[in-house]
Amino acid sequence: MTTTDSTTADRIRRNPGHHRVLTGDRPTGPLHLGHYFGTLQNRVELQRLGVELFVVVADYQVLTDRDRADNPAEHAENLVLDYLAAGIDPDRATVFAHSAVPALNQLLLPFLSLVSVAELGRNPTVKDEIAHSGRSTVSGLMFTYPVHQAADILFCKADLVPVGQDQIPHLETTRTVARRFNERYGPVFPQPEALLSAAPLLLGTDGGKMSKSRGNAVPLGATEDDTARLLRAATTDADRRISHDPEHRPGVAGLLQLAALCLDRTPEDVAEEIGDRGAAALKRLVTEAVNEYFRPIRARRAELAADRGFLRDVLRNGNERANKVADTTLAEVREAMGTA
Ligand code: ATP
Ligand code: MG
Repeated sequence: MTTTDSTTADRIRRNPGHHRVLTGDRPTGPLHLGHYFGTLQNRVELQRLGVELFVVVADYQVLTDRDRADNPAEHAENLVLDYLAAGIDPDRATVFAHSAVPALNQLLLPFLSLVSVAELGRNPTVKDEIAHSGRSTVSGLMFTYPVHQAADILFCKADLVPVGQDQIPHLETTRTVARRFNERYGPVFPQPEALLSAAPLLLGTDGGKMSKSRGNAVPLGATEDDTARLLRAATTDADRRISHDPEHRPGVAGLLQLAALCLDRTPEDVAEEIGDRGAAALKRLVTEAVNEYFRPIRARRAELAADRGFLRDVLRNGNERANKVADTTLAEVREAMGTA
């Protein structure tokens, strides 16, 4: 596992059957290299170790920063495609959509009563997403979706959440919700922990967090030509000597980071190799490294893409299983709270 915390990795390896993983993605577009190195790789590795995996297609959360979800069903199918191409096994993992699991969503109401408005307003990731949304009004969902995310994680009693850096405050909300629920009503939920990869914040072609919605991503399933085009357009600077300086040269640092991940080298080492040959040489090197690294995944993706019916079946089966799990947890929650 690429997690930075080796004691956690050892603990999981010793007893994979005692753990459960929940993670997910918003169906706002194709998954990108940030997803792969930030969380997907760890999901697949945890699955390989024998940990049960739940993956949520977070369709209700699309509405945090826009009024309508465009083509939600198509985006959801494409997420499933990216998952399977990256190595998530549909026979072992439960891949489901929020909107198909009513009992999960019902947990949101009691959970909302466990957090204060001031706590919700302090979440730094929410503040960042509001800043990037470019909207004049902010919906209630924007402030409350981290609590919805607690419902995602706790409905299946997941204790491990492989995520990128931006999710750390949300994980803290989930831990708070679980702790307060247990204190108030009795022990029902685990205290889940975040699993960060070695690349918890992959930078995009503009030097900011690579994001589906910010026009700075290289999709996992991009063609080799598209990959070259996207990387060629990356923001760099005029200094021909390539150095790894994330604070002052974020664009260059993002490219170095990507090359390093694909080549299993350090960014400094890659910078050294390029020397004073400038950003164009760096971009050529990164493009080749990315295309080489993702060739097998992209080939598998192209095969799987031919059978849309199969992708829909994966989701349908996952929804069915998630509903069973959510119904059981909701019954337990009602029992603990003394409601009908
Ligand atoms: P959007 O722009 O629509 O919010 P996104 O690219 O931020 O899309 P999400 O669906 O919000 O993707 O995030 C899914 C998961 O991928 C989360 O665990 C998140 O931490 C992780 N992730 C997203 N972007 C990156 C990145 N650049 N580096 C590392 N992990 C990332
Ligand atoms: Mg996001």
